[in-house]
Amino acid sequence: MSDSTKRRRLLDELDEINTIVESNSSQQLELSDENIISTTCSISSADLMNNSISTTTVTVQCPESAVNYVHQQEEQIVSHRIYWGYKKPLDSNEFLTDFCEEITNLINNGIQFKIDNQNVVTKKVILDTIVCDSPAKSFVLKIKGHVRFFSCTKCETEGQYMRNRLCFPKINALKRTHESFKNKLQEQHHLTNTTMTELIYIPTLDIIQIFSLDYMHLCCLGVIKKLVCLWLSKGSKNIRLSRQQINELNALHLSLRNYVTNDFPRKPRSLDEFSNWKATEFRLFVLYTGPVILKKVLNEKLYLNFLYMRTLKKNC
Ligand SMILES: [Zn+2]
Repeated sequence: MSDSTKRRRLLDELDEINTIVESNSSQQLELSDENIISTTCSISSADLMNNSISTTTVTVQCPESAVNYVHQQEEQIVSHRIYWGYKKPLDSNEFLTDFCEEITNLINNGIQFKIDNQNVVTKKVILDTIVCDSPAKSFVLKIKGHVRFFSCTKCETEGQYMRNRLCFPKINALKRTHESFKNKLQEQHHLTNTTMTELIYIPTLDIIQIFSLDYMHLCCLGVIKKLVCLWLSKGSKNIRLSRQQINELNALHLSLRNYVTNDFPRKPRSLDEFSNWKATEFRLFVLYTGPVILKKVLNEKLYLNFLYMRTLKKNC
């Protein structure tokens, strides 16, 4: 295949990704119906007591506009419920019971409130998304951790060890569905001798689709950090940049410091420190600074490879 054909194919694929992402975004817009209160639930471990006791919390939130409506714009409250415990329970169901009961009631019956002395309005409540990092997700779903062979929560692919790393090279594995999860059709994905998570019984919930992907670890501190690492030091000869190219890239990156406004938590800093970069710095790099400076340093193939990642991440 000639270089120009390869290039055209890469650009076509990039267009295709953009189209898929855009169509998904327009589907999500349908949720903004004013008669629907769309809620988000996040589950995480946090030091709420400021005394190093690890606590696990479930926070339920809904969009500001809906909350303002409920509270007649008295104050901007976004958190609806916080459930917590002093430590992680052995069984996640013990921790989720109150949340599951309450959200089931809200989904079945909606929420009613007075709009004036005579009129009561009922709003439908939906649980739109559950947000967890990978360890919290495997805890609440009672599945194998994210470094195990059958850990993918979206498809039934089996990991393989390649160059001393667990990889998931298959891109067309059978997708998981709510039913296949509920019936434990791939046993190796689930922890042994455990009951099913109570989340599965929440009405209308699709246990596979309801969880958002953890983009901070997957993209910022995962793929992007890995790409930078390969360019700077660990990649094979055809991927690694020369010292001269690294210096050029570094200079270009630092030259943008004056043009990064205070809207961003951190200014660009040296690539020599990339192993200590925070997730927000990788985010700034992949979405804003990287596309400009990398075009001048990376070859076309590597640059397009980076743009693939950027296109996907832009919509996270
Ligand atoms: Zn998968």
